[in-house]
Amino acid sequence: MKQIYLDNAATTSVRPEVVEEMVKVLRDDYGNPSSTYAIGRHAKSLIENARKTIAKQFNATSSEIIFTSCGTEANNWILRSCIRDLGVKRIISTKLEHHAVLYSINNLAEEYDVEVVFLDILPSSEIDYTQLEELLKDESQKTLVSLMHVNNEVGTELDLKHVAQLCTTYNALFHCDTVQSIGKKRIDLAELPIDFIVASAHKFHGPKGIGFAFIRKKNVLKPVIFGGEQEKGLRAGTEAAHQVVGMAKALEMAYELLDEESEHIGMLKAYCKEELCKVFPEIKFNGNEVGFYNILNVLLPLSEEKAAMMLFQLDMKGIAVSRGSACQSGSQKPSHVLSQFLCEEDLKKPSLRLSFSHENTKEEIDTLIEVLQVI
Ligand code: PLP
Repeated sequence: MKQIYLDNAATTSVRPEVVEEMVKVLRDDYGNPSSTYAIGRHAKSLIENARKTIAKQFNATSSEIIFTSCGTEANNWILRSCIRDLGVKRIISTKLEHHAVLYSINNLAEEYDVEVVFLDILPSSEIDYTQLEELLKDESQKTLVSLMHVNNEVGTELDLKHVAQLCTTYNALFHCDTVQSIGKKRIDLAELPIDFIVASAHKFHGPKGIGFAFIRKKNVLKPVIFGGEQEKGLRAGTEAAHQVVGMAKALEMAYELLDEESEHIGMLKAYCKEELCKVFPEIKFNGNEVGFYNILNVLLPLSEEKAAMMLFQLDMKGIAVSRGSACQSGSQKPSHVLSQFLCEEDLKKPSLRLSFSHENTKEEIDTLIEVLQVI
């Protein structure tokens, strides 16, 4: 049976060119990058070249890129170090954040004397920028603003420039969880005064188990993992050269092909919306009107019994979609994101997250809609 993969916000397939590069490194460059002999030095140079390739995509310097095992680790590290080492006393965030941020913040609030303010969420799933500015005007405590760029469930996009400017004006640090947008939108860090961004390679057709943090030079973080001197002592542990090289290749390709691929993905999303409206006239779309070009979160006008069987039946037909964020599959609790802005009645209805990649086709969307119609 042909698989139809429409869950690209959860993870993506690895590009064949990435696999090829990784296999080469696995086979030939097994030396420990900290070793002083040739095979170790070569592995080290692969890592440093990858760092340069990555930094270049964001107009950053390579010393500002630190490799981590994933986006979760990068988010945890930045948040913890901001409080522990940079004197942050107040965090402004939202309850729409990925659990990698939300649970970290909740934990830190228990451990440290830090005030946490969650911004109100408008029915459009957006933050209230005026409320953010009002809060920032109080500069009596060192503040960190932690807001995600693109929401992983509904695709709502933050106005990065606006938030970065507000943070600069009111002397707050700005951490942005960019896991969903890296490789899908260009971010110029020479132009945008963001202090920290994070990435995870498996979201942009790279390998799982590798990510990075961008730490602006002026912010001196301290490690949370202690051990060797890898990553300037900021993130100990023998580097996985094949993962790092795979991530750099995937990122380079993502930005090289961005215009062409984003146009195709955007067209698929528009087509899917249009076709769904034809067969389900009462359908609603969760989140704001526009939303990021690869994510479509739909509220289906189906009964609760039908809803319970929906993911199972789609799976039986080889169609992979998500009920909420990937971490919640199998859970019966309403999504922590949707519950921030949907009414009680709509929360009971089935919501489906469809997320597209360059590999999807119109025919796949036709099949999805045919299957949804007979549920
Ligand atoms: N932040 C966002 C917005 C995400 O979507 C995810 C993954 O779903 C993460 C963080 C966690 O990234 P990772 O899977 O690399 O730990």
